[in-house]
Amino acid sequence: MTELTSEEIAAWDACDPLAPFREEFHVPEGLYYLDGNSLGALPRKTPERIRTLIEDEWGHDLIKSWNAHDWIHLPRRVGDQIARLIGADAGEVIAADTTSINLFKMLGAALGLRPGRGIIVSEQENFPTDLYIAQGLSSFLGGEHGLRMVPRSELNDALGDDVAVVALTHVDFKTGEVHDMAEVTRRAHDAGALVVWDLSHSVGALPVELNASGADFAVGCGYKYLNGGPGAPAFLFVAKRHQDDIDPPLSGWMGHASPFAFDADYRPAPGIGRQLCGTPSILAMAALEVGVEIATRVDMKELRKKSQRMGDLFLELVEGCGLEIACPLESKRRGSQVSLRHDDGYPIMQALIANGVIGDFRAPDVLRFGLTPLYLRYSDVWEAALVLKKIVETEAWRRPEFQKRQLVT
Ligand SMILES: *Cc1c(COP(=O)(O)O)cnc(C)c1O
Repeated sequence: MTELTSEEIAAWDACDPLAPFREEFHVPEGLYYLDGNSLGALPRKTPERIRTLIEDEWGHDLIKSWNAHDWIHLPRRVGDQIARLIGADAGEVIAADTTSINLFKMLGAALGLRPGRGIIVSEQENFPTDLYIAQGLSSFLGGEHGLRMVPRSELNDALGDDVAVVALTHVDFKTGEVHDMAEVTRRAHDAGALVVWDLSHSVGALPVELNASGADFAVGCGYKYLNGGPGAPAFLFVAKRHQDDIDPPLSGWMGHASPFAFDADYRPAPGIGRQLCGTPSILAMAALEVGVEIATRVDMKELRKKSQRMGDLFLELVEGCGLEIACPLESKRRGSQVSLRHDDGYPIMQALIANGVIGDFRAPDVLRFGLTPLYLRYSDVWEAALVLKKIVETEAWRRPEFQKRQLVT
């Protein structure tokens, strides 16, 4: 049982250096939104930016906008901003497509750089799309290509001399457990393999040091902690040393050295530019830019400190209420989320949502609570934990309306 009081929690909020950021987001009144790890909140500036883009740029300036409003460089511009959040240099990151598509590109690139090795290694607990893309690419390439899925504890043993690339998610989507990026990368390199890091639950959530870790490739999501909006463009990272050696498997015209020469033959653009494929969605890209701009003004060390403290608080408050802890207890091994386990996790989450606490459910039994330090207060975490405890104690989740499965969980 915690010794903390709601007055003490209010005092934490009062001296929180990140508190002013909450004003930059639209957070519905009376809602405890612990799902920013699935869909980040709406930045207050986004509607106005999109209105201007639609009415003035698209509506009035039409196609001239590609030059006049520099639409053509948006993927690079946003990429350079994201680079600052993940320990990469300008020119190493580009915003494009979806995380799934970017995984395809990065895995394809890595396989191309390791001829004679056909195996992709990943964890069986990795996010399903990461595994599916690796399976699809392997069967498309045929021959000796394949995905080797192993439990986390057996990753090192899986690194044979047939392995071209190790593809891992830095922060596990279900348990929130963080990989030691530098250590895993070093081991993969020692075995002659390259590494693709999925930063979907890392970018904007904790400090990431791609170049200091020696990373080769990375991908990540724009609609979670970057607050870019539903289906926001994703991003990818290619270390400078690899960029000009890659033969892009998705060789679209936007990645051509000279797209407006309209040559019949593909010639890849130098550097990160060849990682573009088709025309970017400018509406979506502009919304992402607003979210990313906010993140670039945040002190990531302060963000991490608050995120860890919120996670510790939540775990302390729900201790002993009958839910099993499914994330690391030690905050430095945990991303910006808390995960709990219960056989009736689905109806419990439905009851929580009906009571104004939004988290999400990940089959078969995990309740996930995303902690987004930019727009959540310690008092929100306190209130959300109290609601959860009450629902479990009173078994309010047993009501029939909470049993029906929705399509999106
Ligand atoms: C959210 C997430 C994705 C999403 O991929 P999309 O292509 O945007 O649907 C991929 N990988 C991980 C680890 C994620 O958490």
